Amino acid sequence: MRQKIVAGNWKMNNDLKESLKLISEVANMVTDEVSNDAVVIVSAPFTNIYALDQWKTGSSAVDKIKLAGQNCCWEESGAYTGEVSAKMLKSIGADYVILGHSERRQYFAESNSQLAKKVDLALKHELIPIFCVGETLQEREQGIHFDVIKSQLKEGLYHLIKSVFKTVVIAYEPVWAIGTGLTATPEQAQEVHAYIRQLIAEGYDEETAESVSILYGGSCNPSNAASLFSQKDIDGGLIGGASLKSRDFTDIIKTFN
Ligand code: 13P
Repeated sequence: MRQKIVAGNWKMNNDLKESLKLISEVANMVTDEVSNDAVVIVSAPFTNIYALDQWKTGSSAVDKIKLAGQNCCWEESGAYTGEVSAKMLKSIGADYVILGHSERRQYFAESNSQLAKKVDLALKHELIPIFCVGETLQEREQGIHFDVIKSQLKEGLYHLIKSVFKTVVIAYEPVWAIGTGLTATPEQAQEVHAYIRQLIAEGYDEETAESVSILYGGSCNPSNAASLFSQKDIDGGLIGGASLKSRDFTDIIKTFN
């Protein structure tokens, strides 16, 4: 059975106080209302992860909510002003790191080869990468979305040996659906998720393809989560806007109840 996962990507939102308020609301709701074994991940700004981890340690949600970074450096350490390393992230309580988010690819020109290095460092420091792939609207309209996703996957992840590849989480986030309110239909999302699983089966084997969790991201909310998550190859979601509201985020997690 593949792991079900609901991950909230707070992006550049919530200062320290707001972060602590939101996680405590989510923790209370998750403890009281969630009766499934989906992994719940909160991906907060770097500045707040340590405090969230400290807060979590004293809470009943300590095992239920995992923390993630939203990026890490492609180098181990050194003269990279402004960067945060995988080792640093691990040392403050993160268990996961989002890598290759389209906003990083677009605004910070992250390339697949750079992302492959980030993946290696994350894994070296026992952070599970949530590796994002997805096409722009233009790429979909040109009918090249499958090719784009294939290169992102191959160049970013296929250097991993099978036993390590199996531990990675993949997120399909069509860029045109991120923050736009324009969700992929369950059929569109399922089509790409099935394609990703087929690529993994070709690159590795069926068993590996069946064991990797593939999340959908892009305007996912409490109203559409159930129809998306019920698709055969969709194992949960990477949630942006709706993860900033404790009620909405919890309702999405409850989809698996
Ligand atoms: P939205 O849910 O706000 O569309 O963002 C999705 C996303 O980018 C998650 O990483």
